[in-house]
Amino acid sequence: MLDILTIKRKDNAHLTGSCLCAGVTYKIDGPARDVVNCFCSECRKTSGHHVAATRVNKDHLIITSKKTLKWYKCSSGAYKGFCTICGGNLFWDNNKDNQMSISAGTLDPPTHLQTIGNIHTEDASDYSKIPTLDTEKE
Ligand SMILES: [Zn+2]
Ligand SMILES: [Zn+2]
Repeated sequence: MLDILTIKRKDNAHLTGSCLCAGVTYKIDGPARDVVNCFCSECRKTSGHHVAATRVNKDHLIITSKKTLKWYKCSSGAYKGFCTICGGNLFWDNNKDNQMSISAGTLDPPTHLQTIGNIHTEDASDYSKIPTLDTEKE
């Protein structure tokens, strides 16, 4: 099985990102995992669709503005970080390891990341189309 949940990129990302109103801004100073689509019900209900997320070590995530950031505790014990003004869905913290998932759409392009996997597709809604991925890419 393809191990898609591990942060594999060795190059430092130096990425920046924000929500739409920029009440929440952040930077990543370290490796960022390629993007995985998550179809679980928590992602579905909080984003309105599926979530495409990168993942980083928490030590490499610097939240540069958290003025409008709020954390919602999901029933699974995971936390969703969102903006209370524009509703931007930025972070997901499983509260189990020292890693943070970050909604890839909140990153400022170019990200130099690629989409490498789909997870929890069994929870996808019936309208949903699971994207076909180019498995030739490493
Ligand atoms: Zn915002
Ligand atoms: Zn999910």
